[in-house]
Amino acid sequence: MPSQTYNEFIQRVKDINLAASIEGILEWDQETYMPEKGAETRAAQLALIAGVSHEKLIDPEFGHLLEKVEREADPDPLVATNVRELRRIYNRKVKLPTALVQEIARTIALSKEAWTQARRESNFAHFAPHLEKLLDLKRQVAERIGYKTEPYDALMDEFEPGARAAGVQSVFEGLKADLVPLVQAIKTAPRQPKTALLERKCPQAAQAAFGRRVVETMAFDFAAGRIDLTTHPFCSGASPDDVRLTNRYDEHYLPMSLFGIMHEAGHGLYEQGLLVEHMHTPMGMSVSLGIHESQSRMWENLVGRSRAFWVNWLAPLKAAFPTLADATLDDWYFAINTVRPSFIRVEADEVTYNLHIMLRFDLERQMIAGKLKIKDVPAAWNDTFRQFLGLTPPNDAEGCLQDIHWSMGIFGYFPTYALGNLYAAQFFDAARQALPDLEAQIARGELHPLREWLRENIHRHGQRYRATELVERVTGQPPSHRSFIEYLTRKYKPLYGF
Ligand code: ZN
Repeated sequence: MPSQTYNEFIQRVKDINLAASIEGILEWDQETYMPEKGAETRAAQLALIAGVSHEKLIDPEFGHLLEKVEREADPDPLVATNVRELRRIYNRKVKLPTALVQEIARTIALSKEAWTQARRESNFAHFAPHLEKLLDLKRQVAERIGYKTEPYDALMDEFEPGARAAGVQSVFEGLKADLVPLVQAIKTAPRQPKTALLERKCPQAAQAAFGRRVVETMAFDFAAGRIDLTTHPFCSGASPDDVRLTNRYDEHYLPMSLFGIMHEAGHGLYEQGLLVEHMHTPMGMSVSLGIHESQSRMWENLVGRSRAFWVNWLAPLKAAFPTLADATLDDWYFAINTVRPSFIRVEADEVTYNLHIMLRFDLERQMIAGKLKIKDVPAAWNDTFRQFLGLTPPNDAEGCLQDIHWSMGIFGYFPTYALGNLYAAQFFDAARQALPDLEAQIARGELHPLREWLRENIHRHGQRYRATELVERVTGQPPSHRSFIEYLTRKYKPLYGF
């Protein structure tokens, strides 16, 4: 039985995270339904809630409670997980003076605005001073939090607890060595897809209805979630019982909304699969951004872009979109798996995508270490881009200014996208072993067995295991790029005929 002290402690933890969950809903509303003029009030509401949650966490009384439950050293893994994770978060937050936190929040607000304008005008110089200031503030954060090897580690730890830059780098080196020749082989392959199929007109309402049907089949619970319209799709929410997905549409490019909503629903299934009885405590929260992304990418790519998936869904697709009535399974499957090096990360195919991430990882690590001067970022971006993808960005808007992340001061976030792709392939291999009938199930339109497997093996454990530990537990192997490369080779070699 947990002690009285622990019960008191966990009640406070729930309050802290409950306050944070209000932020999620306010931000969702801001991106979906809030009228334009509501922005100022919303900023004040968000700042207030963020303050409430931060103050509750760094409250010395909470610190004492944390020490007390640590001294009790309850071996129950549920208790131990909650205590361990709160210590991690507490140690990070308590080291940051409120003045620094506020200064960062103010700088980000201005920086995002400057970035929006800079990107619109493709004018890096307009964004540069903001980036400089944010980097300086984030270096201060890293120094205060502390690190063993390099400041980047302290920042990345927020998104992927336990990950270190040197370890990520060695994984990425292996991945790059295998990816580059694969991209080259695909580029010069004898067979190429008929991409015009993807540009046929598909009305937005029909896209929304079709996407919803797919998401229903994935066993996303619409009594505990919904889908709304935004400019940038995301998944957020307040609890496993309230998960918000958003999507966007291009009537002349169906894959954007279709794979977009499968991606977000993959995140959503993870949120819905967390145990309600542990709601707003680490045992009821996701492991890391990398593990989260493994769920979205698995549904988007390993399921949604598989041939088996379309064995079932091609007929409903043609019925929903008469312009696609003449599409054959082979042509459609090939078209949705078009691989082509391109400038924009969010539009990249699953083969070249990780190269976009690796170049960002290289550059931001150098920036944080002070080895890359801000004024040299555009040139360094273009050089690295040529090296990684063989293309030269035509301008900074399609180069170093394309992502919002740096303007929000989130350095160390990008690597989690690539880690997610690697984890996804490893988890999917394990699922295929555990469910020998998986491919046939997907081909029959039965997606719930996979969802159940993910729930059982990943979702319901909350933060009990760190990412690396979870991967080893589920797959029997440490995190590695091998499954991912094997998956790509198995899929693209016959497709492109190289
Ligand atoms: Zn995602």
